[in-house]
Formats: sequence, C-alpha cells, structure tokens
Amino acid sequence: MFIAHLPSGYLLAKFLDHKIKKYNITRTTFFSLLMIGAVLPDIDLFYFYLIDHRSVHHHKYFLHWFSFWIPIFLISYLYWIYTQRKSKYAWMTLLLSSAGLLHICLDTFVGDVWLFAPFIDKAYVFFEVTPRFHPWWLNFIFHWSFFVEIIICLIALFIYLRDRKKG
Ligand SMILES: [Zn+2]
Repeated sequence: MFIAHLPSGYLLAKFLDHKIKKYNITRTTFFSLLMIGAVLPDIDLFYFYLIDHRSVHHHKYFLHWFSFWIPIFLISYLYWIYTQRKSKYAWMTLLLSSAGLLHICLDTFVGDVWLFAPFIDKAYVFFEVTPRFHPWWLNFIFHWSFFVEIIICLIALFIYLRDRKKG
C-alpha cells in the first residue's frame, strides 16, 4: 500500500470515534495516535533507503512483523484491563499498536508481508502484482489495488470535508 495508510488511520479513528470512550485522552490525541500508528511501520523506509540501500525488502524489518505488534497490543491491553482501564499510557499504546496492525494487514493486500517473521522466512500476499513495468512502483500504480487506495483516500477526504463543514 502506498498512499492510503494515513487516510486508513483517519477512517479507523472516525469509525471508532463514537463507538468507544476516550479514557482520559483528548479526541485530538485519539486521532493522532491512530493516524501515527497507521503510518509508523513505514518509518523503516528511512533505514531501507539510507542504511541498507534498498538491499533488503523493507517488509522484512521488525516494524512490519506481526510478531512485533501483536505482543505490544496484547501486553498493553492486558495491562490496561489490569489497571481497570485507568492507565493512560497502556491505552495510548493499545491504540497505536492497533493502527500498526491495521497497517501491516493493509500491506498484506498486495505487498509481500513476512507473516511469521522472524520464525519463518516466507513472504505472503493476497494479490500478486505482476512485474511488467519499470520502475517497479509503476506496477503498483497500474494495478487495480491502486484504485482501491484512491477510493480509501477519497472516502477519507469526503468525510473530513463533510465533518469540517459541520464544525
Ligand atoms: Zn508498510
């Protein structure tokens, strides 16, 4: 996924906004955490370009591992429950890791994701993108999944503009 991560975080926040309580955090923090979490795994792109010089698929880095995000999610959830939903930081970590997990799930759509890393060195993907064009990213732009990304962006934009008008 290329362009729809941030809008998907926004949509997740919008979806949950009226459904769940904010538990001691402001609405802005709530939205920020989910939107930051939705793009956070991709900060490994800096490492990919600057340190590894694109020699390793960036989905192989731990920020794109389920085995990294699921324990964070579970531990923060359990701690949050243990503190009777009073721990603000556990709650914040829970939101951040939920959005992180959403990111990797969306990446699995057309981008190879090492679902069982670091235990099994195998990439999984729902819909294969056939390499036909150069540079490589054109393959994704001309793939139908990019249309889905545009739709996600448009829905997010539509909701944002609609609700801004409402004030
Ligand atoms: Zn990613």
